[in-house]
Amino acid sequence: MRRLFQILILLPLLTPLWAKVKVVCTIPLLSYIVREIGGEKVEVVTLASGERDPHYVEPRPSLVVSLRNADLLVKVGMDLDMWVDSLVDASRNTKIIWGSPGYVDCSLGIKKLEVPRGRISPKEGEIHIYGNPHYWLSPANGEIITKNILAGLLRVAPPSDHGFFKERADSFISRLREKAKEWKSSLAPFKGVKFVSYHRSFSYFAEYFGLDYLGTLEPKPGIPPSTAHIAQLIKDMKEQGAKLILLETYYPRKFADIVAKETGAKVVVVPPAVGAMKGVDDYFSLFDTIVSAITKALR
Ligand SMILES: [Zn+2]
Repeated sequence: MRRLFQILILLPLLTPLWAKVKVVCTIPLLSYIVREIGGEKVEVVTLASGERDPHYVEPRPSLVVSLRNADLLVKVGMDLDMWVDSLVDASRNTKIIWGSPGYVDCSLGIKKLEVPRGRISPKEGEIHIYGNPHYWLSPANGEIITKNILAGLLRVAPPSDHGFFKERADSFISRLREKAKEWKSSLAPFKGVKFVSYHRSFSYFAEYFGLDYLGTLEPKPGIPPSTAHIAQLIKDMKEQGAKLILLETYYPRKFADIVAKETGAKVVVVPPAVGAMKGVDDYFSLFDTIVSAITKALR
């Protein structure tokens, strides 16, 4: 009995040795990479569903509760998941506020595309004022995301776990490099192919794989398609011979169908991130799915 009592008293002192790092991620793609690095030494909560548009997430009290106990917050950054900022404030968890060791902005070190020059008018509803935040759709940027998450884990985890995290991060990066070669060679025959999408989700993808982004169904990020814009897009696609429309899973189909009917282009529904489609549960199947959908459509 006395022995048991001693153990119970010592227990709180020992817990840090096997406690998991509590990580909260804004989108499932980041959670997947955290698990790849952290394995059983992390406990991960994801705030947004992969099936919904990650630009707009309704703040709910349950999300604040998850943030309250977190050791690490992992976000996309730029303005994609800006909705998390007010939730972090509400959680009053100073471990995960901007600038503290438990704050990971995965866009750190990314070569940003489409950074607006001059004035933009957010009153129209336009988003992405810091440039295009869909940078995870380049395997090269997947490495940068991995390094940012690893750095965060090393800041908050006990030193005894550092080797474990580093090894797993290295292993993930080398598997990613191997797969990236495969994806590159699958898309090599389609270099320079012109395509459009609903939202500008594929800029980093297009740059990495050498595809030619002709335009989007929405006139500007976050602004719904207009008749005039669609008419101009149809004209451009006909003139330039664009035959591919990539439609992100969570956007409406009708505009893509109208454009396809006028131009003879094929509509290919693709997942813009992990969790956006059934079976797309990891970073590898995300690229596998997009690459095979494109090659099938253009063959
Ligand atoms: Zn966006």
